Amino acid sequence: MSVPKFANVPHSFHAELKKRIGSYFEEVGKSTTGDYPIFMKAVILMVTFMVIYVHLVFFTPGVVMQILESILLGGVVAAIGFNVMHDGAHGSFSKYKWINSFAALSLNILGGNNFMWNVKHNVIHHAFTNVDGVDDDIDIQPWMRMSTTQKKYRLHKYQHIYFWFLYSLLYIFWIFVLDYQKYFKSKIGSMPLKKMKLSDHLVFWGFKVFHLFLFVGLPIYMVGFTSWLISFLIFTLVAGLVLSLVFQLAHTVEHTAFPMPHETTGKMEDEWAVHQIKTTANFATNNKLVSWLVGGLNFQIEHHLFPKISHIHYPAISKIIRQACQEYGIVYIEYPRVRYAVASHVAFLKQMGRAA
Ligand SMILES: [Zn+2]
Repeated sequence: MSVPKFANVPHSFHAELKKRIGSYFEEVGKSTTGDYPIFMKAVILMVTFMVIYVHLVFFTPGVVMQILESILLGGVVAAIGFNVMHDGAHGSFSKYKWINSFAALSLNILGGNNFMWNVKHNVIHHAFTNVDGVDDDIDIQPWMRMSTTQKKYRLHKYQHIYFWFLYSLLYIFWIFVLDYQKYFKSKIGSMPLKKMKLSDHLVFWGFKVFHLFLFVGLPIYMVGFTSWLISFLIFTLVAGLVLSLVFQLAHTVEHTAFPMPHETTGKMEDEWAVHQIKTTANFATNNKLVSWLVGGLNFQIEHHLFPKISHIHYPAISKIIRQACQEYGIVYIEYPRVRYAVASHVAFLKQMGRAA
């Protein structure tokens, strides 16, 4: 599929939003990046990660403690992904570029690769959200059917049951299979990767080896194969489930749309900002703990419209965006609690497994 084009409209909703959000930041005199509050959060998460890692690898806790610590490690890894890596990659972590690059590198230490992430997430997913054939986040084929335009198989009838298991596998698959597929095919879905420089190749391989040393070689040497395998499986399955769920709750629920470009012109029906709002949902935005843990990804509408603004500003700018949506007659999708969003995701999967 060629790259879809968004409708070009005079006096666009996007321009209006940018104007209102711009005036807000001028009024309050704040920078749009995260800076100090985010650094504190990053330090808390990194220190927690290191303490658990060191305890698991060098102090061999008892089995119950080992299992609990491994579960916690999975949660902390997901939180680092949401709060440090994701913001760094978007350039919203700090006003300094080098600090953003440093934050984004946390992904490489955890086994992923920031070059692939930039293309998959920042370029493709953020521009062409929920466009089947382009957005890699809804391409879990043939295992799952995430849009009516995707081929249906008999097993999809049960996808609202087995998705828990598949989502748990995401992290292991991501670091051991999907990154290499993207690397060797030089493609993400149907979209070609931009050319990798020598430094990109070196970073890719250097960190993959470093990750294997840190998360496979060294722990096996210290605690033995079986003990390592138990911890490794628990922490990667927990991280995979949390990461998948938070990213899926934002776009694949009952009320979000899956627009497709016009077959011959390749044009999308809406302008970009309206497309983002129609394909995205918020959840539990009043829950401060959820907001803190998922790095504002529960304010996904705000994130999709302004990915370069740090998530610490989302509660404030969401009021402005809500108001504008009301004035322009655009539906702002929000689930008040996490469990409603999860229920809606399950209902959506059920629908997709049965619909024509
Ligand atoms: Zn993002």
